[in-house]
Amino acid sequence: MIYADNAATTKMSKKAIDEMVEYMEGCYGNPSSLYEFGQEAKVALEDARNRIAACIGADAKEIFFTSGGSEADNQAIFSAAKLGEKHGKKHIISTAFEHHAVLHTLERLKKQGFDVELLDVHKCGVVTPEQVRAAIRPDTCLVTIMFANNEIGTVQPIKEIGEICREKGVLFHTDAVQAVGHLPVNVREQNIDLLSLSAHKFHGPKGIGVLYARKGVVLDNVINGGAQERGKRAGTENLPAIRGMAVALEEAVGNIDSYTAKLIPLRNRLIDGLNKIPYSELNGDAEKRLAGNVNFCFEGIEGESLLLLLDDKGICASSGSACTSGSLDPSHVLLAIGRPHEVAHGSLRLTLGEDTTAEDVDYIVKSVTEVVTYLRNMSPFWRDLVNGKRPHVFAE
Ligand SMILES: *Cc1c(COP(=O)(O)O)cnc(C)c1O
Repeated sequence: MIYADNAATTKMSKKAIDEMVEYMEGCYGNPSSLYEFGQEAKVALEDARNRIAACIGADAKEIFFTSGGSEADNQAIFSAAKLGEKHGKKHIISTAFEHHAVLHTLERLKKQGFDVELLDVHKCGVVTPEQVRAAIRPDTCLVTIMFANNEIGTVQPIKEIGEICREKGVLFHTDAVQAVGHLPVNVREQNIDLLSLSAHKFHGPKGIGVLYARKGVVLDNVINGGAQERGKRAGTENLPAIRGMAVALEEAVGNIDSYTAKLIPLRNRLIDGLNKIPYSELNGDAEKRLAGNVNFCFEGIEGESLLLLLDDKGICASSGSACTSGSLDPSHVLLAIGRPHEVAHGSLRLTLGEDTTAEDVDYIVKSVTEVVTYLRNMSPFWRDLVNGKRPHVFAE
């Protein structure tokens, strides 16, 4: 099997697994318990918090553990909205290609009377700082823009956007779930007030993540109960997962340079190979993208059929995001960058990882080329394109 879906989730690191087992077996006390066995767990919890904070340039007091990226996004956005509302500010700026954890949270706020403005995304998959500057109004309370897109891998000018928000006195949140552990992230240098991260996207366990909130940004509770996480997120801490996340994050951050140097040539080899398929195009900028991300549209293809036939060939890939597959709507990300519906339906995301080899890439290119040809040969839609009854969207 070739696993080319690392944006959906990653294989756990061996070190992180060992760390988790150690804590499940040997340190199962409750960090809130006062006896020494509980306090050992408390020390291990705070040690993990310190180490995670160091990996993103934050202070330990600014790290709040959550159940993952989705919860962190929800809490960040609801908190900023509540703070804004207090001052009569109900305008929120985001983009049309955010993750659903952000978009659906914003929809909820819209129903509560917030004015949500989604910026257009340029066809290269990037939002510019100038767009953000032009959109900020006196009643803007939050700008939330993802660090790197989960479908097309494009990386946003976060530091520059953060600088504008600082200057204008507007809170800036970034969903950095695809970036942390893959790109250098430093909340101080990049002017970030709120940031979401998730362990399972960098070889850590599923169901654990972090909301970073800059000192002074008051969080609102999404989960109510006990006084854990300084009263901002109730529930007994998942210490094994938190320890596993800390170990995986340190490992990922330490490997960023070697990982990037290894993956970029493989990614480019895959892009070059798939570019040879007629009437196909890469989605998003070829350079300003995550080292492992390749996303293509093929004319005259249904993404779902492509995935199933690739699965038969032992390749795990994705079409649109994992959360939307199963629905017949084309990816909102591809529509946001201006792909027409009929082309957006024929998309394929391949996300490479540490284990990917050049042989894997060559096998993927060969398999995708075969499957695309096979599917086109049976498609009435493709026949219309060939006969000139419909215009092509892409050049040959
Ligand atoms: C995976 C992902 C999420 C959701 O994270 P979970 O930990 O699975 O809840 C949010 N945003 C982006 C960009 C993601 O890729």
